[in-house]
Amino acid sequence: MTLHGLPYKPESLYYDGKVQAPSGEYPWTIEDPSTAQPLVQLIPSSTDDVDKAMDSAQKAFLDWSGTCYIERSRILRRAAEIIRKRNDELAEVETRNTGRPFSETSAVDIPSGADVLEFYANLVGSGGLNGETTRLRDDAWVYTTKEPLGVCVGIGAWNYPLQIALWKSAPCLAAGNTMIYKPSEFTPLHGAELAAIYTEAGLPPGVFNVINGNGSIGDYAVRHERTAKVSFTGQVSTGQKVASAAGLGTKYTTMELGGKSALIVCGDAPLELAVDAAMMANFYSTGQVCANGTRVFVPESRKAAFEVLLLNKMQFIRMGDPMDPATNFGPLANGIHFEKVRDYLVHGSVHDKATLLCGGSDAQPAMRTSDDPKWREGFWIDPTVFTDCHDDMKIVQEEIFGPVLCILTYKTIEEAVKRANATNFGLAAGVITSDINQAHRIVSQLQAGITWINSWGESPAEMSVGGWKLSGLGVENGQLGIEAWVQNKSTLVDMSGQIATVFAET
Ligand code: NAD
Repeated sequence: MTLHGLPYKPESLYYDGKVQAPSGEYPWTIEDPSTAQPLVQLIPSSTDDVDKAMDSAQKAFLDWSGTCYIERSRILRRAAEIIRKRNDELAEVETRNTGRPFSETSAVDIPSGADVLEFYANLVGSGGLNGETTRLRDDAWVYTTKEPLGVCVGIGAWNYPLQIALWKSAPCLAAGNTMIYKPSEFTPLHGAELAAIYTEAGLPPGVFNVINGNGSIGDYAVRHERTAKVSFTGQVSTGQKVASAAGLGTKYTTMELGGKSALIVCGDAPLELAVDAAMMANFYSTGQVCANGTRVFVPESRKAAFEVLLLNKMQFIRMGDPMDPATNFGPLANGIHFEKVRDYLVHGSVHDKATLLCGGSDAQPAMRTSDDPKWREGFWIDPTVFTDCHDDMKIVQEEIFGPVLCILTYKTIEEAVKRANATNFGLAAGVITSDINQAHRIVSQLQAGITWINSWGESPAEMSVGGWKLSGLGVENGQLGIEAWVQNKSTLVDMSGQIATVFAET
């Protein structure tokens, strides 16, 4: 127990390699979404705090950018090792802060964050930042070098907080940059903890720094004169503001934004596989996954069988104490989001007039009527399936970011692909089929940056991810991901001792 008897330490500002006292106004309270009880009260960073963190990051950049690759790699691998050793403890923090089940955070968030750190440490340690050398002619060649950008700002969303922080900081630091990281104001608990782990691993002071607060402090950091690049994860509307602000300073940006992705179940799809994919694409993390496949296209002829099996399997969704290893479905992450998702459920039934297969706004989740009163105030919601949906319904067009699956039927594959693409989003898409040729044909036509064949949701360190259209700019992860954190320099070397000048005497 710490400040005011609350369970977590009120650490919200970290620079120069240690926790600092923030000087912002208006402390805010972080709640456990499963109970709506306070976890900690934090003081936000002021603009003065951000300036100091920026100075620290700028100073550290001079040395860190010159550290040899093997040494950088060694420090980052050490950090990955510490993260793995503390897996369950870090997963518990994520579960308390996001409400997402420990069965997820301990198996996905922490391991996949550590994987990305290890991936980029290994990549730069084994020549991944080497440029190209081209022999132009006998006495001239061109070489390219990959140079770090400088101080980079990372801004995170609330659904996968530590994982997002690692997916941004790993390639950023591996490429020789320094970072100012701002977590979502709803889920800040991991920030100072991660910074302390980096310090323990040997990262020099100022290389990874944490500020906290709402959008206005994020905006200040984005526009800051020291900021060379912004990597943002969040909603499309916020991303547009952030990209515009960064654009004014011609700063590099990576935008990982929202989606309304399509899962196409083909006529020959194994039904069990199709239903399992649809459930993972809609109910994992209580639907709070950017790449969710919320528009599920099912052939008309298979709709009835698909729905029977789906309803049957939904009994395996186990809502409960998020720390219970058997629980696989937690509450929504915060009260504001809870209201937003409930509004969509009402809209789906009342205005869109979609057929409700299960769940919906009138459903009373078991945790809200639990014998144990501590759960009753939590942001629990039942998994919901709407069927007989149409493309023009609001619930089919807009990102809900909750456990709401929409079934749409189709007659031909061409029609399904056309309708899957008829959206301004382009984050993810997937196809379930027994015909591998058909799978590749469909994937090649889908307008999305992340695609899956007979799978949904797996996002390993080796796989680059990023959205098309309104869903984003650039990619994270994989070998391509490092490019977002470097600037390339080309050098032409001429050894002939002569310039091919047009101004020679004739
Ligand atoms: P959000 O856009 O509300 O907030 C994201 C972050 O931006 C927060 O840290 C917030 O404080 C900050 N912010 C707000 N206004 C800002 C401004 N003007 N300048 C700088 N920073 C500002 O998003 P959210 O509700 O936290 O997250 C949910 C969204 O994130 C969903 O749309 C989801 O699809 C998306 N998401 C995308 C990915 C991806 O990889 N594509 C991953 C996770 C989440």
